[in-house]
Amino acid sequence: MLSEWLDHRFPVLEPRGARSRLLVLAGPTAVGKGTVAAYIREHNPEIHLSVSATTRAPRPGEIDGVHYYFVDDAEFDRLIAEGELLEYAVVHNRSRYGTPRAPIDAALAEGKTVLLEIDLQGARQVRAAEPAATLIFLLPPTWDELVHRLVGRGTEDAEERARRLRTAKVELAAQNEFDHLIVNEDVATAAAEVVELSSSSAR
Ligand code: 5GP
Repeated sequence: MLSEWLDHRFPVLEPRGARSRLLVLAGPTAVGKGTVAAYIREHNPEIHLSVSATTRAPRPGEIDGVHYYFVDDAEFDRLIAEGELLEYAVVHNRSRYGTPRAPIDAALAEGKTVLLEIDLQGARQVRAAEPAATLIFLLPPTWDELVHRLVGRGTEDAEERARRLRTAKVELAAQNEFDHLIVNEDVATAAAEVVELSSSSAR
């Protein structure tokens, strides 16, 4: 077959193409990347959405193996020790989150596009481990909108609000490290733009 011949003749081209089908969606806290990822899960089943392992407790309605693999600290330690995670990080100074490597390798080997919705620390680790991964940064429509989403409910005290805004500024400054910026004006449009990137990077 032609594709086999091409793989044999130009071996470097195939893995490069395969790796660029690895999409990472990151962005500042409260920008809505979880919502965009959930929308893609529902509307684009052809895209493999990575299921992370986490040490945090499930929220009502979250299903083990669908939204996360809920594990305890000992199991998370084991995943790290066995090299089973592509990346991992402590998020919001609280729980640990990590991306299981095996399901991603399997999906890529099947020719699928894989999407990771992870935090900035994780995105940087994926960049280091897989330089050809496509890194997408989700932006709020405006700074005011992000402020509104971060502190809008007004349930936090002044100190906590100030802390969140400082974090958001630092997170926004990371956008230059990314390959693509997508503005989350509305969820369906932002999701469609991510999906569009997935089909163009598969070529
Ligand atoms: P939540 O606990 O609200 O579901 O997620 C909190 C944060 O953890 C989100 O910013 C999400 O992107 C991040 N996150 C989820 N899974 C992973 C993962 O596997 N690795 C990393 N580094 N961050 C993750």
